[in-house]
Amino acid sequence: MNIYYAPPSQINNGFAELLDQEAIHASKVMRAREGDSLTIVDGQGGRYEGTIGRITKQSVQVEITEREHIRRKSPQLMLGMGIIKKRDRLEFAIEKAIELGAARICLFRSERTIKENVRMDRLESIAISAMKQSLQSYLCEIDLFYSLDEMLDTIQADNLLVAHEKVEASGGKIDFESVRSSHQNLLLVGPEGGFSSEEIDDVVNRGASLVSLGSNRLRAETAAVAFLSQFLTQF
Ligand code: SAM
Repeated sequence: MNIYYAPPSQINNGFAELLDQEAIHASKVMRAREGDSLTIVDGQGGRYEGTIGRITKQSVQVEITEREHIRRKSPQLMLGMGIIKKRDRLEFAIEKAIELGAARICLFRSERTIKENVRMDRLESIAISAMKQSLQSYLCEIDLFYSLDEMLDTIQADNLLVAHEKVEASGGKIDFESVRSSHQNLLLVGPEGGFSSEEIDDVVNRGASLVSLGSNRLRAETAAVAFLSQFLTQF
């Protein structure tokens, strides 16, 4: 099953318009033709079935035949991730985090961030493909913060879990009940250099729980995947 993305601004009066990469994907890659049926999501919970009315060089116009609103999953999981130096590793982490259900991703510069190499335009298009690939209806919001403190002051999460490799596996278990009863859970993973001890003190003072992901030291992007995977079958 293939789904396509059109933001709400491209859905009006019973018609949706696919533009740019989405139009190319439908007409050139998938070879859709006038009269074919397809499914569109608007990234905000809207899901539409429709029939292609017209294909031009720039767009695919779709007459909507059915619509529904998908409710957001609860509890929400957000991933806060220290910026990783290698762009391909960062992009891998973003793609997998979205497939695994992250509703929002907050990238932050931390004390041990080595180099910033973030192309937000690329991340936004990865977010669209990952949403479509995993058949979700909400587009993951991706934000960039200049420090861990700025991120924590801005994101008003009601539960903060921090993956920290220096926590004993036996003592750093996830309290799933607290995650279930929180509306917004923020899961933090450090950059390749890890969190500094000051950053760990800071998050603990803010009420964070430190979580172990086992006794192996994982790369940051592996840690993000391992962290989010813990919740796949919980809710
Ligand atoms: N530079 C650190 C060191 O040498 O000890 C390792 C940092 S690790 C590559 C990057 C991030 O992944 C950490 O800050 C942590 O958030 C997460 N992480 C890696 N392995 C982990 C584990 N076993 N348990 C919990 N978190 C882990």
